[in-house]
Amino acid sequence: MEREARTELAKGYEHREVEARWYPFWLSRGYFHADENDRRRPPFSIVLPPPNVTGSLHLGHALTATLQDVLVRWKRMSGFNAMWLPGTDHAGIATQMVVEKELQRTEKKSRHDLGRAEFLKRIWEWRDRFGSRIGEQHKALGASLDWERERFTMDAGLSRAVREVFVRLHEEGLIYREKKLINWCPRCRTALSDLEVHHEESHPGELWSFAYPLADGSGEIVVATTRPETMLGDTAVAVHPDDDRYRALVGRKVRHPLLGREIPIIADAILVDPAFGTGAVKVTPAHDFNDFETGKRHGLEQITVIGPDGRMTAEAGPVAGQDRFEARKSVKALVAEKGLDRGSRPHLLSLGRCQRCDTVVEPLLSDQWFVRIAPLAKPAIEAVEQGRTVFVPESWTNTYMAWMRNIHDWCISRQLWWGHQIPAWYCPDGHVTVARETPAACATCGKGGLRQDEDVLDTWFSSGLWPFSTMGWPVRTATLARFYPTSVMETGHDIVFFWVARMMMMGLHFMGDVPFRTVYLHPMVRDEKGQKMSKTRGNVIDPLVITEQYGADALRFTLAALTAQGRDMKLAKDRIEGYRAFANKLWNASRFALMNLEGHVDGGDSETATVTPADRWIVARTQRAVNETIAALEAFRFNDAASTVYQFVWHELCDWYIELAKEALYGDDRMKRRAAQATLTHVLSTALRLLHPFMPFITEELWHALRARVQADRWPDSILAAEYPQEGPVDESAERRFGPIIGIVDAIRNVRGEMNVPYKVALEDVEIGALEADARATVREEQPRIERMANVKVAILHEPGRSPPRRPASAVAVGTGFEVRVGLAGAVDVAAETARITKEIEKLETELGALRKKLQNPGFLAKAPPEVVEKDRARADELVEKRGKLDTHRAMLAGTADDTARRDPMENNQQNPTTPPTPAPAQENPIVQAAQSAVAAGTEVAKNVVSAVTDAIERVTAARKSAKARKARKPAKKKAARRAAPKRKAAKKVAKKRKPARKAKRKAAKKGRKGRR
Ligand SMILES: [Zn+2]
Ligand SMILES: [Zn+2]
Repeated sequence: MEREARTELAKGYEHREVEARWYPFWLSRGYFHADENDRRRPPFSIVLPPPNVTGSLHLGHALTATLQDVLVRWKRMSGFNAMWLPGTDHAGIATQMVVEKELQRTEKKSRHDLGRAEFLKRIWEWRDRFGSRIGEQHKALGASLDWERERFTMDAGLSRAVREVFVRLHEEGLIYREKKLINWCPRCRTALSDLEVHHEESHPGELWSFAYPLADGSGEIVVATTRPETMLGDTAVAVHPDDDRYRALVGRKVRHPLLGREIPIIADAILVDPAFGTGAVKVTPAHDFNDFETGKRHGLEQITVIGPDGRMTAEAGPVAGQDRFEARKSVKALVAEKGLDRGSRPHLLSLGRCQRCDTVVEPLLSDQWFVRIAPLAKPAIEAVEQGRTVFVPESWTNTYMAWMRNIHDWCISRQLWWGHQIPAWYCPDGHVTVARETPAACATCGKGGLRQDEDVLDTWFSSGLWPFSTMGWPVRTATLARFYPTSVMETGHDIVFFWVARMMMMGLHFMGDVPFRTVYLHPMVRDEKGQKMSKTRGNVIDPLVITEQYGADALRFTLAALTAQGRDMKLAKDRIEGYRAFANKLWNASRFALMNLEGHVDGGDSETATVTPADRWIVARTQRAVNETIAALEAFRFNDAASTVYQFVWHELCDWYIELAKEALYGDDRMKRRAAQATLTHVLSTALRLLHPFMPFITEELWHALRARVQADRWPDSILAAEYPQEGPVDESAERRFGPIIGIVDAIRNVRGEMNVPYKVALEDVEIGALEADARATVREEQPRIERMANVKVAILHEPGRSPPRRPASAVAVGTGFEVRVGLAGAVDVAAETARITKEIEKLETELGALRKKLQNPGFLAKAPPEVVEKDRARADELVEKRGKLDTHRAMLAGTADDTARRDPMENNQQNPTTPPTPAPAQENPIVQAAQSAVAAGTEVAKNVVSAVTDAIERVTAARKSAKARKARKPAKKKAARRAAPKRKAAKKVAKKRKPARKAKRKAAKKGRKGRR
């Protein structure tokens, strides 16, 4: 094959070209297909939450697909029989609306003009034309789905499963039909489940009071309502039985002021709160859920005054035919005319709206089908209690439990045309026959002429069967035997109840086991400011545009890197750009490696080669990265996994090792060259495999090139079939021995950066100490390299364990296993630099003074928008921090800085660990940076820093503390701060491990490169 022969890479990384190449290749090899008869390998399975057939890939889909593909590719490479099942959902109401709109637009017709059969035909046509779009979009993203198993919630098999479930539940008495009050959308003209109604809390409304005259004319009783139009359907007035004010009235009647009918006054302790309003309540059983129950308790009449179209019915007398909101005004006016208006006051209420169209939902009395849910919920609660299904993040367990314990019967019938028509038939006498196949005669009376129920099932009814219906149920297939229960359900927490909970109930009931072992709920994607993405806000990031622009690999990596547990992710374009740069970096480094691997044969005579401490170091670091990545993946810490791979590939492999290996690769020592080549091959191939689940396309491309270059015929000819790197022991002595070399060079580079000393200015007064014996030996050996890379002269290399003495005009950096003092006297014009800094401090003080004045002005604080105040505060904090740094530099130059304190270098670093890898240099303390670099360089977590600049640290810490204290004082923020506290701690831990190193390191590397040029 042409691509097999390619050993050199194109000069520039072109994601479009690379990403177009591999999906067809993978498909043609059948790599994504899992064999249900394979007993050799352990199964790992995921069913993709089926996107709506009308859907076009949005970020939520992209995130789901990315995280699942990361898991599936990782498991597949780790020797699992990984099955990832794709499909689409018919999405009843959504699809029907799309096609209706289209019909209106093109033919100016409604679905009623076409009739049911013709309209359904149109939807199927539409589905055939556009239904594969979302699948194609998943392919472009690299999702390694088992397309041979693709399903559709209305395909023949799944339709059969739906009927089977309906019939069985009906036979078991768990599905029933009843006239009940349900949520109704007057615009969609269908019943909705409780979940499909979203509640707008604290909607400003009014509480209107009016009087019911007693029927005998002896007085009146005042009631209040937020929905005056419903009074036309009142069939009682209720009071509390213990309320002395009304005790004498119970059992008597009032007269309806607009309709004339007499209504009883009843006593009800459940409905009435005597302390609220007048203590008397109007009762409308047909239009309010509480009143409906009250009506049942008292045998009250149910009068429907608002129809399915949202208009008043004939029962509404004087306002019949009016729209419900118009009728509200009319009723008030009519009551006022009778002199019975008793005034109104503003009132906040909870308003239910249709999830689909936002119309205010109306409780409506109608015949509907319900699932008796409590018996199904019980095992689903127990399964989670017993840990048979585990939620990640764990906090979702309680949410799930609370909901499951308070669950109401589920209204499953929808007055739509598109969907699974309910398998119930009515005979002319009104008997109901529920059957798997269309019956010829009534099961009760044997009559023919049956009519099928016109309603369809809630879309989520079929979705709830997805984990087993897609695998062939009700037939006990080999696929079910192999892959059910699935391993992981990965989805957004917005559909926990819609979907996860129902799959749990259905799975347990029909399969006798949970549908999945782990439920991983990913965060919601928001914009960079943390706002929800929406078309109206104009802040939507389209994954299709992003993929075209930056590549699927970059998008995938970004999404994985941002997926931290338990919080929403903030996505900014520059992050994606940053990871596009990462792909580019990997490309260039690989290209360099490939050029220098010419003539090297994998598995050749490298065993006899001379391995250097640098070789051993990178091998150890590779193993550590492997271990940490796997640990993170096992725990669903996608961001940690991505960050580990990123740090390792970018900094240790590309920035350091490839740089270090040049000497051997270019040198005359054949054995050293062999060792470097063998090491490079091992590390690069491991890195590619480690990265593959996150960036499948570029890694496949590089794998092929590397494999061809080193003639590694024993490697599989797709990285997908290669083995994922395995956990193993880390050669810590190699890390200890060579880590300080990198730490030292980084530390010196950072001092240069902070003190504006360019690379070309040699630093001749450098002392290194506090080394262990073998690290010291390495430093001595590598001294020429250190001197060259940092352009320094090492004046003194101290004996093991001895620290360099402190001197004026010096910077001292301490990392794990080393200390370095850099004398600045000859390199910096102390007087000029001091003057410059002083001037800068003065300028800064002026600005800070003005800001503080503003922030202490109560008038400003009261009037200015919160984001403006917040911005000013942030600026003030920034200035304080900057001044601290400048003070430190000045003190350093004067040789007056205190240098005795040791403290945790990360104390100052509370940044979000997911801060983007944008190339902007970090404004950080040089010593902190040095320590961070040491971390990046592999010297483990730098534990202590002795610095000539403790002053800065104290100032910064103090500034942060005061900022924190200020925030804590603000009551509104208190709660948020408390909530965020444990996370911040975790974030800090992560930051300690990896993140901070990144910027500092790159900055150093950049400076270094600049210097060498
Ligand atoms: Zn609606
Ligand atoms: Zn019958």
